[in-house]
Amino acid sequence: MNYLYIYVIGALICPVVASQRGYYGIGWVIYSLLLWPLALLHLLVLPKNRAAIERRELDSGEFVRCPHCAEVIKLGAKVCRLCGREVAEELAPARAYREFERRVEEAQEPNISPGP
Ligand SMILES: [Zn+2]
Repeated sequence: MNYLYIYVIGALICPVVASQRGYYGIGWVIYSLLLWPLALLHLLVLPKNRAAIERRELDSGEFVRCPHCAEVIKLGAKVCRLCGREVAEELAPARAYREFERRVEEAQEPNISPGP
C-alpha cells in the first residue's frame, strides 16, 4: 500500500517538475502517470526548455525583453541583471501599459452581475 502512495505522489510531482523546466502538455502528464520514475529521469537529462520558459514569462506580463541585450528581465527592473545597463526609462512605457491592463482587468471583474 505504501508503494501506491509513493507512486501517486511521484505521478503528481513529475508534471510540476516538467512545467518548471519548460515542458508542458498532456503528453508529460500521461508519461508521468504511466512511468513517472522514467519521466523524472528523462526530465533531469533534458536541458531546460528556455524558449518555453521565456514565452511563459513574457505572456505573464511581468517580464519584458531588455532593450539593450534582448534577454528576459522583470518589468520592474531598473538595471538589467544580465548586461548591467539602466533600463528604468526604456521600460517606463511598458510598465505604464501593464498598469493600464491591470486596471482594465480590475474594472471588468465587478461587472459580472447575477442574472435577473
Ligand atoms: Zn540587458
